[in-house]
Amino acid sequence: MTFTPHGKHLIAGEWVGTERTFTSSPAHGDAHDFSVGTTELVDHAVQAAEEAFWSFGYSARADRAAFLNTIADEIEARADAITAIGTSETGLPEGRLQGERGRTVGQLRLFAQHILDGAYLDRRHDAALPDRQPLPRPDIKMVQRPIGPVAVFGASNFPLAFSTLGGDTASALAAGCPVVVKGHAAHPGTGEIMAEAIHAAIQKCGLHAGVFSLIQGDGHDFAQALVQHPLINAVGFTGSLRGGRALFDLCAQRPEPIPFFGELGSVNPMFFMPNALENRGADIAAGWAASLTMGAGQFCTNPGIAVVIDGPQADAFVSAASDALEPIGAQTMLTDGIADAYRAGRDKIAGAKGVQEVLTSMCDSRNATPYLFATTGQEWLNNHALGEEVFGPLGMVVKVADMDEMRTIAKRLEGQLTCTLHMEDSDLDDAASLLPILERKAGRVLANGFPTGVEVCDTMVHGGPYPASTNFGATSVGTMAIRRFLRPVSYQNIPDAILPLDLG
Ligand code: NAP
Repeated sequence: MTFTPHGKHLIAGEWVGTERTFTSSPAHGDAHDFSVGTTELVDHAVQAAEEAFWSFGYSARADRAAFLNTIADEIEARADAITAIGTSETGLPEGRLQGERGRTVGQLRLFAQHILDGAYLDRRHDAALPDRQPLPRPDIKMVQRPIGPVAVFGASNFPLAFSTLGGDTASALAAGCPVVVKGHAAHPGTGEIMAEAIHAAIQKCGLHAGVFSLIQGDGHDFAQALVQHPLINAVGFTGSLRGGRALFDLCAQRPEPIPFFGELGSVNPMFFMPNALENRGADIAAGWAASLTMGAGQFCTNPGIAVVIDGPQADAFVSAASDALEPIGAQTMLTDGIADAYRAGRDKIAGAKGVQEVLTSMCDSRNATPYLFATTGQEWLNNHALGEEVFGPLGMVVKVADMDEMRTIAKRLEGQLTCTLHMEDSDLDDAASLLPILERKAGRVLANGFPTGVEVCDTMVHGGPYPASTNFGATSVGTMAIRRFLRPVSYQNIPDAILPLDLG
């Protein structure tokens, strides 16, 4: 099956073109023209989403589960075409697109199962106590209800699993919320074919066409109109700190502020306990090189910083990491803009006081090679910029004087998606002294592994204190992601006959 994009938006079941277009910028293959969204289209899509909510938001969970499974089937039916357009637009290898498709389909089916199970509704009942003194107690029931239409911003770095039909969209639809997606301009054709899949599923399941719309384009005016639309109730976003913060502030400034669930940035530091560094430093360095350069380092869980205690073992670790990184060579970045940002971030670090360049080669146009830098704990503590995310295959080793300085560094960290401990059983005391600090900094703390590769499951937290996310109580991966699009409602003395289906 081949796929040639027509370049239109999907607005409440209709493919709509607009006068202004932009041309895609694929890593390889043909470029195509795509319509650019307008504020009028945003209004049309959101009004339709609100109309759809009156049926979709009150639908049976079994029907929504069938819908999610049908979307998954429609994605699988377009498997080869999705891989072809996805690799062309992003430059990511075929195997990555195939794996990501599996994850995307898997998370749709997982949410189908999750809503059928029903535990997420957290149903509670305080039965009436008519004879209670001095006052009787009313009958009160509680259930989680969907919040209404939701806006989703597709991420550039996961064209399937975090984009048009990614985890934000899957969890919102599972909750019963219609979705309006602002597609990412880095992979508009991939967005379009995923929208085709959901369009087909909406028709097969006989749902209101306003349940899903996709608006494409590279402008900010219509994207800002989307988060400011009075009928939008929440926003899911993965991207840069700058873009996310701008949209987050717009959500807070609305006459009726709404939650903005932004996943923005993280350096995912790794802390090496002394015995792990001594016994396995070289092995861990090789594993780090692989994790750091996976997908050209364009992962939100890319472990950018390694903190080790200075000494001969630290030096051996740095040279093992450099040896493992050097042969990896140049990889294609997702967009020209991301490559530019990588070069700027690398130059800022290279120019910082007290930073040693261990491995430097090149980064031209959209290709980037890995870079490795080293610095001391003191220099790192003196320069906030050394703790900021550089999106791409860039690693920094921070050599600290002792465990005390390592704990000081941990305390100084900004919020993170993940923190990693590398440790042996004989390191338990040192690890125990760090864990209470790390759990205050990150959504996920792990031992003896690498944070890239986020399991989609019931226990996953992919979030964390700002700037890792704008809402530390939330996760954008795993079944708990549905909580972002629900709101608890108490029903006091409401007759059973008119209670929501989920309380019946
Ligand atoms: P981005 O620039 O934040 O853009 C994400 C989405 O938000 C795009 O659709 C973008 O539209 C839109 N947007 C950004 N600023 C906006 C504003 N002020 N008003 C309205 N819409 C706005 O992220 P990106 O394009 O994916 O990548 C750029 C950088 O983000 C990377 O270099 C990297 O540093 C970071 N990033 C981080 C992660 C992570 O997981 N931590 C993931 C991806 C990217 P336009 O395309 O029209 O600007």
